[in-house]
Amino acid sequence: MSFRVDFRNLCRICLTEEIDLVDILTLGNSTEKWIQDIKAYYDVQIRFNEVKSTKLCLLCLGRIKTWRKDKVKATNNQVVIDFLDTKVQEQLPYHRFNVNED
Ligand SMILES: [Zn+2]
Repeated sequence: MSFRVDFRNLCRICLTEEIDLVDILTLGNSTEKWIQDIKAYYDVQIRFNEVKSTKLCLLCLGRIKTWRKDKVKATNNQVVIDFLDTKVQEQLPYHRFNVNED
């Protein structure tokens, strides 16, 4: 029996051939962004003109999509954190004033 794996037709991240694969290099304008995010999230560098698989399965792509949403949520939530921080900062002189009054 020969070792028959089409190494360009498996997920670059999890090696599956069973789930639908998306070739990152065929995503047009968003290809660069996907390459950056795959590097940031999985620490895997996908390059143009390489013989290795440039495909990711829908599950591994989905994790990046979730991560992107989480990052947006976290960034937006910093507005709340900053607001609360401002409130605390505003109250500091008030407390100090009260302490001085006693
Ligand atoms: Zn995968």
